[in-house]
Amino acid sequence: MAATAENILPKYPLADPARAFLKRAGKMLIDGKWVAADSGKTFDTEDPASGAVVAKIAAAEKSDVDKAVRAARAALEGPWSTMTPSMREGLMLKLADLVEKNAEELAQIESLDNGKTVAMARMVDVGSAPPFIRYMAGWATKITGETIQPSIFRGPDAKFFAYTLKEPVGVCGAIIPWNFPLAMVLWKMCPALATGSTIVIKPAEQTPLSALRLGELVMEAGFPPGVVNIITGLGEVAGAALAGHPGLNKIAFTGSTEIGKIIARAAAENVTRVSLELGGKSPVIVLPDANVDMTIQGAAMGIFFNSGQVCTAGSRLYVHKKIYADVVEGVAEIASKMKLGPGLAPDSELGPLVSKEQQDRVTSFIKSGIAEGAKVLTGGDAVSGGGYFVKPTVLGDTKPDMKVVKEEIFGPVLAASSFDDIDEVIKRANDTSYGLAASVWSNDFRAVQRVVPRLKAGTVWVNAHNLIDPSVPFGGFKHSGFGREMSKMVIDMYTETKSVYYAF
Ligand code: NAP
Ligand code: MG
Repeated sequence: MAATAENILPKYPLADPARAFLKRAGKMLIDGKWVAADSGKTFDTEDPASGAVVAKIAAAEKSDVDKAVRAARAALEGPWSTMTPSMREGLMLKLADLVEKNAEELAQIESLDNGKTVAMARMVDVGSAPPFIRYMAGWATKITGETIQPSIFRGPDAKFFAYTLKEPVGVCGAIIPWNFPLAMVLWKMCPALATGSTIVIKPAEQTPLSALRLGELVMEAGFPPGVVNIITGLGEVAGAALAGHPGLNKIAFTGSTEIGKIIARAAAENVTRVSLELGGKSPVIVLPDANVDMTIQGAAMGIFFNSGQVCTAGSRLYVHKKIYADVVEGVAEIASKMKLGPGLAPDSELGPLVSKEQQDRVTSFIKSGIAEGAKVLTGGDAVSGGGYFVKPTVLGDTKPDMKVVKEEIFGPVLAASSFDDIDEVIKRANDTSYGLAASVWSNDFRAVQRVVPRLKAGTVWVNAHNLIDPSVPFGGFKHSGFGREMSKMVIDMYTETKSVYYAF
């Protein structure tokens, strides 16, 4: 029997609020109203555990994007500009409370749409949302410029002083990936709200649902219409119309390096400010003194967390030859015991990948690794019988020129190899076009200090992987993008600086 929402959903422990949301979901949020696309077109969003279509979603085109950008401009220059920072902070705190109040519903929606386990959606995607919103709300009242002394005029000649004002960057666009749908919306929406900017958000076509539910909560919190607009649609249509829109002052993108380049090119035409958070191929470097048990747990989480669909996934494991066999076998053992199943089934430990396309892409990478001589220690293929599952896979004895070592797979596939010498492993770790993150596992402080400064990566964890905190900058070196999200650095990215000279 073909998987349909009618025969799949009754089997899931979906509570009433999530079921009610699925019934009404499908419209977009433009200027405070829920609207269909001008064309009337829709696209399907699926349950990746079965392939069943769970909702039909408005497919925005250029005219819808135009309306959303106009609404964002009108709100920027109208009601939103009259609100004080503390009023903006108050609205954001109210939104955080609403997200907290509706957390279980949001987690169920996220799990159903993306495939991730509901436990993980509760803890990570939705659990991190209220503290993140509150952290960013705090910035609304703490944005300050500087007073500046003249530098080349002295004493009585110094007939002026200068200061800087921080103003909202303006109308922002945000293009969102499918791996952490709700969190990625918040990472872009919250700094825009804190600085007094407005935003048009395009979620990924695979996972539009949590952004739409968040849009309802934004309106419930009392934000003026047009401050937050959510347009759903296909990347090459709605995303492209947004990225190239002359009405934007800034565009923020998270996704693949390939599409990031397209976004940057489109933005360049209008000199729109751009920030890009792109792919990664993050190395996990295990020094000979590392605590083996802790490293095994950390390396397994580093790659299998969110089924490896994480831009910072620790996808290349380099272990000193002295402990290589122990560490790699330990990670493979964890992988072999993970229970795969629908995200909403309470006993699942690993959900499906987000789409058939990703399942095919990841399995073709595994095949290429095998063909190039990697040794399959566990996993190695998809799971047959419906849903987009891929077994967590550990490939041993990988070589630097293999495709599985060089390219971002974005799935639960670990490429492991051993090393002998620190200089050699640093060279191999940096031998990638990406530079998003890396981790080093060791308790030898001096050895760690010899490695960390030499790694070309925006984030380096020591004895951890995938730790993220709102107060710490996050972003990439090299082809992993530019700009930093989180921390005060993201506030700078959503403000313009105006220098004011006062002569006297
Ligand atoms: P993607 O194509 O880069 O998609 C990211 C976002 O860009 C989505 O909202 C997408 O819309 C949109 N988009 C696509 N084409 C566009 C265009 N021409 N103009 C404007 N926006 C456009 O990523 P994906 O296809 O979902 O995944 C492909 C690979 O990207 C993955 O295998 C992985 O390697 C990488 N990826 C990285 C991250 C990360 O966090 N660094 C996240 C996701 C994916 P639609 O989805 O609606 O088409
Ligand atoms: Mg979906």
